[in-house]
Amino acid sequence: MSFQLTILGTGSATPVLTRNPTAHHLQIEQEGYLIDCGEGTQNQLLHYKIRTTKLKYIFITHLHGDHFFGLIGLLSTLNMHRRIEDLWIFAPKGLAEIITIQLKYSDTRLNFKIHFTETQTEKSYLLFENDNVTITTIPLIHRVPCCGFLFREKRKKRKIVKNTKPADLTFEEIKMLKDGEDIFHLDGSVKYKNEDYTTPSLKSSSYAFCSDTLFNESIIDIVKNVDMLYHEATFLDELLPRATQTNHSTTKQAALIAKKAKVGKLIIGHYSSRYKELETHLAEAREVFMNSYLAIEGEIHKVRDIKA
Ligand SMILES: [Zn+2]
Ligand SMILES: [Zn+2]
Repeated sequence: MSFQLTILGTGSATPVLTRNPTAHHLQIEQEGYLIDCGEGTQNQLLHYKIRTTKLKYIFITHLHGDHFFGLIGLLSTLNMHRRIEDLWIFAPKGLAEIITIQLKYSDTRLNFKIHFTETQTEKSYLLFENDNVTITTIPLIHRVPCCGFLFREKRKKRKIVKNTKPADLTFEEIKMLKDGEDIFHLDGSVKYKNEDYTTPSLKSSSYAFCSDTLFNESIIDIVKNVDMLYHEATFLDELLPRATQTNHSTTKQAALIAKKAKVGKLIIGHYSSRYKELETHLAEAREVFMNSYLAIEGEIHKVRDIKA
C-alpha cells in the first residue's frame, strides 16, 4: 500500500526562477491526486516523472492564479495524449465556467469527460470518498472562497494470519473475524477468539493540505493528529502585519497550528517571492514545532509506504 506526496510547486503569487507556483501530487495506492495546479504544473509532472495516465482527481483550493493557472494547459496536454478516462475536478464556484470558456474559444474538444464538483468553502464536510480514501474540506480564511483538503486512508480490516485459519470457518465467520469480532458456540462460549487468528489493521494515514489562509485556529480540530500537515507560511514572523493584511500566515503561525493540532510532521511552503534563502523559515518554524520541514520541489514525503 502506498500513500506518498511529491511536492511540485512551492512559490506564491509572483514568479521566481527557483520556484514554481503551488502544486502537490499524492499517490494513494495506484491512483494520482493533484492538489492545486499553478502555472507550469505539467512541466513539473514531467520533470519528476509522475505519470498523468494515473491522474484521476484534481483538487483546487481557490481561484487565485498561482493555484490553478496551470490547469487548462494540463487538460489540453492530456487531451493531446489521447486520454479517454474520466477526470474528477473539485474547486470553488467559477472554475467549471472558466475552463469551459477556455476550451470553447481555443476550439478544444476533449476526448474525456470531466466531472466538476463545486466545493463549499465555509464548512467542513465529506467531499469525496472511494475505496481507499475519504477527503474532507478544511474551511480557510482568504480573500476569495478557499478550502483545504484532508485526505484520510480508509481503515483496513484485520488480517487473518496464514495457516491459523480453522478449516470449518464459514464465509460469514471469516468476515466477522476480519471485522474484529469473536466467534461463539451456540451455548455462548468462545469458539474462535479473534486475536488468536488475526493481526490488527494498519493505522489509517492522513495528510492535510492547507493552502492560502489567515491564521485560523478553528482548523485545529479538523487536522488534529494527522500524520502530515502542509500549511502555508508565506512570510517570516517579522512580516506578521503584512501576512494579516493579505490573509496569509507566517512561519510561526503555521507551526503553532501544527503544535496545537499535535500533528506528526509539518511541511511549510508558498514562500513569498521576496525570499531567496529559506533557512530562516525553517528555523522559525522549528522554534515552535520541531518536526517542521520546508517544502522543496521534487521531494517525496511518505505518509505511508508499506508493501502489503
Ligand atoms: Zn497563493
Ligand atoms: Zn491565494
